[in-house]
Order: sequence, then C-alpha cells, then structure tokens
Amino acid sequence: MSLTFPEWPPPWHEIRLAAEACVKSGDWGSYDSRSLELLKGRLSELFQVDHVRLCPSGTAGIELALRIAKVSPGDEVIVCGYDYPGNFRSIELLGATPVLVDLAHESLSLNVNQLTEMASAKTRAVIASHLYGNVAEMAPIGHVCRENDWVLIEDACQAPGAQAVQGQTPSPVGRLGDIGVLSFGGSKPLTAGNGGALLTCDPKLKARLDGLCDRPSNAFPLSPLQAAVLVPQLDRLHELNEQRNQRAGALRSFTQQHLTQWELPSFSAATAVSCHYKFAFLAPSSEQRQRIVHTASTWQWPIGEGFRSMHRASPNRCRKHSDLSGCEAYGERLFVLDHRALLFADNDWPQFLEWLKRLHDETASTTERTPR
Ligand SMILES: *Cc1c(COP(=O)(O)O)cnc(C)c1O
Repeated sequence: MSLTFPEWPPPWHEIRLAAEACVKSGDWGSYDSRSLELLKGRLSELFQVDHVRLCPSGTAGIELALRIAKVSPGDEVIVCGYDYPGNFRSIELLGATPVLVDLAHESLSLNVNQLTEMASAKTRAVIASHLYGNVAEMAPIGHVCRENDWVLIEDACQAPGAQAVQGQTPSPVGRLGDIGVLSFGGSKPLTAGNGGALLTCDPKLKARLDGLCDRPSNAFPLSPLQAAVLVPQLDRLHELNEQRNQRAGALRSFTQQHLTQWELPSFSAATAVSCHYKFAFLAPSSEQRQRIVHTASTWQWPIGEGFRSMHRASPNRCRKHSDLSGCEAYGERLFVLDHRALLFADNDWPQFLEWLKRLHDETASTTERTPR
C-alpha cells in the first residue's frame, strides 16, 4: 500500500513555534500561565460561552460535569446506549445508574422520544454526544431537560467547531447544553495529546466547578505547553473543518454510487456545519465489518469498529429502554474512517477512493460479491 495518510497530530511549523515560545518565556513552568489564559479566552470566544475551565481529558471533563450536576449515589443519568463507553463508566463511578435510551437514526445521538419514557424521580442529568459529523437534536433534548429540571451535559469531544441549526443563526456546538465538554486527545480535531475543557454560561455551575477543582491548587489541570500547542490549531479549525466537510460530501456520493454494500447513517438536519472526527459507514453484517476492519489494518489504514453498544450491559448495572435496536445494529455494524482520510490533498484523493473501492470489493460477502 503506497498511499500515505496525512499526519495527525499535524506537523505544522506554527505548532513548533508556539511550543518553543512557551519554553523560552518560562511560561511552561508557571502556575499563572499566559498560554492557559490565552487558550481560555480563545475558546470562550469561539464557543460563545462565559466560562471555560481547562482539564486533563474529555473523560475527566464528563466526570467533572456529572459532579457539578450533583449526580450522587442512587441517582440516574440518561445516556444513549451507543456512545463513548467512558461516559457510561463515569456515571457508574459516581455510584449513579446509567439509563439507556436508543439512538436516533437521524442524528446518531440519543432518541429524544425515549427521554420522557425513561424519566424517574431519580433522574439528575442527561448526556448527549455529537458523533461522526452529526449534531444531536439539542433543542428538543434541552426542552425536555428544562421541563424536568435535569442538567444537560453536551459531549462535544468529537465536534469542535461544528454548528447546530438553532433558530435563525447557527450556534456553536458545545454551548447548547448546561455544560459542554471538549477533548484535546491525541487523535481529536484539536489535539494536545491529552486534555479537555468544560464550557458553561451558568454562574452556579461555574462556581461549583471552581470549588471542586481549586484546593487551592488546580486538581484537574491542563499544562501550559498543551495550551500553547492548541492555540495555532484554533486558528485553522474552521479551514480544516471545511476541508473535511467537502471531502465527506464527496465520500458520501462516492459511497452511494460505488460502495453499494456499505450503508451511510443518515445525516442530521440539525447540522449547520459539521466537524468530522470520524466518518461512519454501516457494513451489511458484523462478519463483514470484521473483514473490512481486518483488511484495513493489514493495509495500516485508520479504519476501526465503532463503539461497543451497551445494550447488552447487565440490568444490575443500568436501566434500559425496551427498544435499543438502533444501538444493537450500530454496535454490530458500524465502522469508522479517521478524519486523516478527509485531509488528503487533491492529488491523492482519487487514489484513496480507488483503494477504498478495492477494500469494499475485497471484503464483500461471497454470496453478494459485486462483480469486478
Ligand atoms: C474521545 C471522546 C471522549 C473522551 O475524550 P478523552 O480526551 O479521550 O478522554 C468522550 N466522548 C467522546 C464522544 C469522544 O469521542
């Protein structure tokens, strides 16, 4: 396989310069780092939120969000059965019970209609994630949460820079719940190897967060060096999201025309601007998915299975809606292509599509193999 995928984390000159400047100035070894303040300011502007708290990871961000939502032992938190598995774990770690609802095929996020069906007196919060370039139906989800006085935690780890259709103007994803969570993990569209942030406009939640973290040292810090390398990535976030979106559009058409065994999850109407961290396909069966992921790995291609669905988790661990068929299907058949593939230069893109077609054909089931 001669096709070399674009590098991620990005090998940009300006990232090296930012790291060097942080080291030279001594900012790297400072508690009140200018890099941290600069990053917070930029995030608050970009996401149009009053308060930004940097933290060590998206996972830590979700846990902190649950804590300031006052999720306590015995409480329940509603979450999609098909989601980042760490979200389920974080709920459990606080002694609370995850309550699983199905995914909505239109948004790949949680099914709003099942929210009220699963409500109980113990419900404290809801986690809604934006996955694979889609945007969750935040307006109706937020409506149910407000009516019931639940805290809405928005997991925007995969979607920095994405915008939702809300009213007349598009709104930045990450500010659409009570608390938004970002990840700066190694493969994410904004990366510092690790890292994350919490976003909120609610002064009460901000005060709780400060009380939880500042003891008086910050118990959940991001380092100044990490902040420094993120700033130049914010400068190009919009440009890269545009490029990934164009490629994703082209890939959707190519799939419909040429990759006939692969299905595309439908695309959310709530999405004004996408951020594609991963591009999702559905294989016809779980066996076929296994072949695709295996063959891709022998080519060293960044293709992997989607999340493990929690629909089979023991009833001792969670409460479940009776219909989690969407989670089950997507858990068995979904596979994802990393956003590096959406960053191919124009020269390499046709060759990538050719190889993708080969992957599709070589892994097609023998009974329905497409003619060559
Ligand atoms: C990556 C991811 C997280 C966790 O972020 P980390 O920084 O890796 O801890 C949480 N939720 C979603 C949807 C993610 O994709």
